[in-house]
Amino acid sequence: MTALDSVSANTHLQRSAEDLLENLAHPVLLVGEDGKVEYANIAGQACLGGWILGLCFQDLFPDHLETLSISTLAREPFVLVSRTHIRFRALIGSVTRGAVLLSLFPDTSQAPALSSEGDELTGLLKRRDMNDRLDQVLSANSNSVAVHCLDLDRFKVVNDTLGHGVGDLLLRKVADRLRTACRKEDHIARVGGDEFIVVQTSVADAKDAERLASRLVDLIGRTYVLSGHTVNIGVSIGVALGEGCVVGRDLLRNGDLALYEAKRAGRGRFRVFEPGMDAALRERRELEIELRRALALKQFEVHYQPFVDLSSDRVIGFEALVRWNHPTRGRISPADFIPLAEETGLINKIGEWVLRTACTTAAGWADDLTVAVNISPVQFKADTLVDSIVSALGQAGLPPHRLEIEITESALLDNTDSVLRTLHALRNLGVQISMDDFGTGYSSLSYLQKFPFHKIKIDRSFVQSAEAGSDSEAILRAIAGLGVSLGMAITAEGVETIEQLERIRSEHCTYVQGYFTGRPVPADRINSFLSP
Ligand code: C2E
Ligand code: MG
Ligand code: MG
Repeated sequence: MTALDSVSANTHLQRSAEDLLENLAHPVLLVGEDGKVEYANIAGQACLGGWILGLCFQDLFPDHLETLSISTLAREPFVLVSRTHIRFRALIGSVTRGAVLLSLFPDTSQAPALSSEGDELTGLLKRRDMNDRLDQVLSANSNSVAVHCLDLDRFKVVNDTLGHGVGDLLLRKVADRLRTACRKEDHIARVGGDEFIVVQTSVADAKDAERLASRLVDLIGRTYVLSGHTVNIGVSIGVALGEGCVVGRDLLRNGDLALYEAKRAGRGRFRVFEPGMDAALRERRELEIELRRALALKQFEVHYQPFVDLSSDRVIGFEALVRWNHPTRGRISPADFIPLAEETGLINKIGEWVLRTACTTAAGWADDLTVAVNISPVQFKADTLVDSIVSALGQAGLPPHRLEIEITESALLDNTDSVLRTLHALRNLGVQISMDDFGTGYSSLSYLQKFPFHKIKIDRSFVQSAEAGSDSEAILRAIAGLGVSLGMAITAEGVETIEQLERIRSEHCTYVQGYFTGRPVPADRINSFLSP
């Protein structure tokens, strides 16, 4: 066997091992040093409540007080009770650098974790009883059964801001509304903190199930008044139809997949399971595994797109835009993999790499050129951002004023105070801060008032449809005017034609960035944009 053969045999073996792990009937989790779930196979996701990557181990197993580590736990099986009250026997194995591999087996040795008296808070069924009833109704006539998997939207915010007392009241009210919406023959369970399952019986057809799901979305989304507070939440629902299915577990898994799609589609809605969803999830998981390896395999590259100062018509800096050169799929757009990287937490590592690469590259440019780096909202939530930036600047020898960071409004949506603290710390360092894609999100003017951004970047959708007299033109003009009065520079993104450039000029924008003035290029080609 040649050396090459042995490399490909190894790769082959690794792939087969990953496939095996992925499809193993019992749950396997990989928990990182920081206590967060880095990997869960399909069985792990299915029985622990869907998409759990990035969640804290402690949140999944709230009763487990010890920190999960090889040293603190004996290497013999121990019992874990999940947040959904399922008991497991767990076996622990070591992986490098503090990561822990856990395999879970059903715990048949003891009585059920909690008696079957129903959920104390809401009086609804618990998961275990619901599973039994589901199997019963399925064995009677599976064609007349539908399962609705519900997950409340924004419940955590209510709990965190108004306290657990109000959170509990809210859960009770939700339970009441569920009872109102369902019929007596239906079964309703609370299966997690803010997760519910409705087993609908006597379902005549798919429309029947959709009607109930739609009613639930509407009812739960109506305003609540709790201890004098007005509270608004929503619900996402995944619906799976019995249709010949005899195993409750499969139906619940389908419901979970549909729920996942409902959340991805923007929450506050329902989705009915379709067989394609399974394939779509597998595809995403494959991409996720590949994304995990991409950094180590050096498949990322940073391209740089110039921005031009309209008063001097000179390039004054470049935006760093990450590219993924996939060996078989070709170049994958950041618009396609950044959301996945954000969901899985991988954006922290990728973002850090982009930041370091961009700072090092920019340090080799003329002193008056800046580099702009996009920072994901997820990176803002980790409290290491300021340190990373200080370290990247120090290592590259780049003065802070030559770094600009771009954030989108979504970074400011939750945790506004802690994000504002981070932004102020960065501003005090001398780093410039831009509000990216302005106009596409909530466009809340209060954000502009709360933080003195150096720059507002107007999203390209307004630039590209800003014909004379259009709404976009009016918006463009209003934002440009706002920038002038607030003392913030304005960049118009996505300028592709000379006409668009002239329009931008007449609206008194400060900078322009777009294909017309320069497409993103690899680092070694930026000289073409700079005057000799
Ligand atoms: P963005 O930050 O708004 O970046 C501008 C995007 O618009 C880039 O797309 C750029 O190639 C594209 N663009 C620039 N001029 C034009 C034009 O004239 N016409 C058109 N049609 N498009 C133009 P790209 O590189 O595909 O990146 C998409 C988004 O992905 C970025 O939007 C940013 O939100 C995100 N992204 C890219 N790199 C990173 C990164 O390193 N970290 C993070 N967190 N996000 C990144
Ligand atoms: Mg940007
Ligand atoms: Mg943008």
